[in-house]
Amino acid sequence: MIERTQGKLVVISGPSSVGKSTICRAVVERTGAHLSVSTTTRPKGPREEDGREYHFVSREAFEEGIRNDAFLEYAEVFGNYYGTPHSEVDAPLREGKTVILEIDVQGARKIKLIRPDVIMIFILPPTPKDLSDRMTGRGRGEDEKTAALRLNTASREIAAAWQYYKHMVINADLEQAIREVIDIIQGHSGDSK
Ligand code: ADP
Ligand code: 5GP
Repeated sequence: MIERTQGKLVVISGPSSVGKSTICRAVVERTGAHLSVSTTTRPKGPREEDGREYHFVSREAFEEGIRNDAFLEYAEVFGNYYGTPHSEVDAPLREGKTVILEIDVQGARKIKLIRPDVIMIFILPPTPKDLSDRMTGRGRGEDEKTAALRLNTASREIAAAWQYYKHMVINADLEQAIREVIDIIQGHSGDSK
């Protein structure tokens, strides 16, 4: 049997609305990487589709997944479960594909323990004001309490990120940020931080 090289595993994190999904979509289009679709218990937004942004499930179904060891990692974020299904990661990696996980800092730390060679990228906003503008502009139709919680969490996450992420990319100009992320992934041969 021919041994294939395992694909690269990439974690992309950053505060809500910083532009992670926009960047990841572009990276996937340009490089053919596989973007892992997580499972979540949070409600589906008006512009989202089940199976595209997330697999949207009930709390009961998610907890059954936990019991059945369906997740590579999972975390509770903003009062909802989010998890990376094994099925989104194992097969593409075996086929030699680059797999991108768009997950939070807690999940990223767990992945780092299991796979120390993971490429860890954190996306930063140019200013806090840009972040809140993008949050409002995205129009997911969330209530004010959730929006405030997302903003408060952002500053804590950014502080933690300096410790755990080797690569920090500022998403001011979108095109430049996309290219930086692609360069990091393609130029990479093992992480040490
Ligand atoms: P996240 O996945 O991090 O929550 P999104 O990718 O959904 O964020 O982006 C949030 C909003 O910010 C979207 O409306 C997106 O079009 C916008 N956005 C992304 N990158 C930039 C950028 N560099 N400049 C201005 N707006 C941006
Ligand atoms: P959102 O509700 O904005 O789509 O995502 C909220 C947060 O959950 C983001 O920080 C996102 O990266 C994180 N997230 C999404 N999927 C997963 C996952 O599978 N695992 C973990 N740990 N975090 C996730």
